[in-house]
Amino acid sequence: MASERVHLPVCDDTAAMLPVMQARWVSELLAGDAVPREPNATCDDCAMLPPPGEAPVGGHWFNPGTRCCTYLPELANFLVGGSLEDVEHPDGISSVRARMAEGVAVTPMGLLQGEDFRARYDGSAETFGRSESLLCPHYDDGRCTVRRHRESTCATWFCKHTRGAVHKAFWNRLHQLLRTAERDLARHCAVELGVPVEGLAMMHPMYAVDGSLRAHDVVPTDRPDDPSLYARLWGPWAGREEAYYRACYAIVAPMSWADVLAASGSELRALAPVVRHALGVTRDESMPARVRLGGLNVVSLSADHVRVQGYSFLDPLDLPRKLFDVLHHFDGRPLVEAIATASAAAGEPVPEGAVRMLIDFGVLRAV
Ligand code: SF4
Repeated sequence: MASERVHLPVCDDTAAMLPVMQARWVSELLAGDAVPREPNATCDDCAMLPPPGEAPVGGHWFNPGTRCCTYLPELANFLVGGSLEDVEHPDGISSVRARMAEGVAVTPMGLLQGEDFRARYDGSAETFGRSESLLCPHYDDGRCTVRRHRESTCATWFCKHTRGAVHKAFWNRLHQLLRTAERDLARHCAVELGVPVEGLAMMHPMYAVDGSLRAHDVVPTDRPDDPSLYARLWGPWAGREEAYYRACYAIVAPMSWADVLAASGSELRALAPVVRHALGVTRDESMPARVRLGGLNVVSLSADHVRVQGYSFLDPLDLPRKLFDVLHHFDGRPLVEAIATASAAAGEPVPEGAVRMLIDFGVLRAV
């Protein structure tokens, strides 16, 4: 008896899929240890597109016109510069320039999300991977035009994880670390390149307890109607934004991980061991002493299989009915006893590997 994944597409080397600078930093951070591989999350042959005959939008499938790119990435200044310098990928240069020309949230920290996008984005199952009105400006017919310089959210997000929630927890931690590094380095560049104090203040607004802006504070996250505001934000770099972003890239591109830590705050130093610990957890395959049913949802049924959703609606499991029908034996009793009872009820052995997968995917949980 073996549980089956919904998709088993070709393998990719996830470490090689990280953006250029981040791949080097992460390799140094992890002392050469590899990040988890996610061969089921295939970007070139999207695992979330509907099979022939199924409606493109519905069930848990993505819209072929958007795939997972219903998002507006916040590109730190040095990542913008990296794309502008990447002459081998002119489509990336074009998409960054188009975004700059649009003029929304073009700041010395980078290309940020405008208020309009923030108001419309909710990350829900109804819109994520489906809504064409949220399509990323760097998306081009199934490809990411800024792939080599994409930001941490895009770099660490996968629709499917080889070990379900266990791997996702690692990627979430790596996202947290890389996002912190992006913000720290963007700040470092702004200070190094002489962004004026008024611009620095606008990029570090103060908020009241209720989340509202303090009086007189301005956030440059939309197209400034007032040209003088834009001039105060950018100072000597107003009108020379491309040169600024390239200069940021020149500062950050040669940095080692030790350099990144030196230019960043203590939050990044705290997150480094957290990420290393999270990687260690992905390699721990020990079994808990007792498990019981987690928060599973039945997505669909057939004569032979039950599709269940555990940790993510994007990454369901197809379970043989024989396995699904004996899951109630995992009720918190000792695991060895539960496996023996479930195997006897099924009339064939319930493999420990299948139980491991059910735990990883949140169908069963340790007690
Ligand atoms: S930057 Fe690239 S990976 Fe990220 S949402 Fe846009 S097209 Fe997709």
